Amino acid sequence: MHHQTALVLFSGGQDSTTCLAHALQSYARVETIGFDYHQRHRVELEARLKVLNEIRRQFPQWEGKLGQDHTLDLAVLGAVSETSLTRETAFRMEASGLPNTFVPGRNLLFLTLAATVAYRRDLQVIVTGVCETDFSGYPDCRDDTMKAMQLALSLGMDKRYLIETPLMWIDKAETWRLAERLGGASLVDLIVEHTHTCYLGDRTHRHAWGYGCAQCPACELRARGWEGYRAGFAPKQIG
Ligand code: ZN
Repeated sequence: MHHQTALVLFSGGQDSTTCLAHALQSYARVETIGFDYHQRHRVELEARLKVLNEIRRQFPQWEGKLGQDHTLDLAVLGAVSETSLTRETAFRMEASGLPNTFVPGRNLLFLTLAATVAYRRDLQVIVTGVCETDFSGYPDCRDDTMKAMQLALSLGMDKRYLIETPLMWIDKAETWRLAERLGGASLVDLIVEHTHTCYLGDRTHRHAWGYGCAQCPACELRARGWEGYRAGFAPKQIG
């Protein structure tokens, strides 16, 4: 089956923006979905819209393919979880080795809702920027989880979904390289300038790799990846 249409889980961060570029390069029609779970920092939702606008403006070859953006209100996540994303608690690592931003099964919810929208919009591929090489080791980002979700959603909705994870086996330096391959230096610049990663919502301190506090784990990861990318390390074997 030749896939033509995709729905991208798009948060306005570096990873999901790279996934969006990948989808725009690969499919004829691409829509985006984002979730508002009343994050402490509205900057993430603002970054989403800014990135979408800039992609439309700077990449005429993609503009015609980029369709509707869907934003779902997931205030309910705040009601069932207590994490530093939704409450005024400081970011820290838990004894489990997971950051306290971890909401158990959050990605399972996201994917289920994305599949529901994809069904309605007749989109075949669901693209998500989950990654096993990420520092945080979220169990709902693992490859096995994605394969299980693909099967569960396909059976449960009686529609053949493909869950695509372009970043699953690459690190942050390679994610920057992938962005460069997809959209050249202008996409890299767009990601640096407009995507948001920092857990503290810092948009005042500008670094070579973008805006952020430079202290939180998300900033550290992004900065380290950028250094690796700029240093031009040989790409790691994929798979
Ligand atoms: Zn930060």
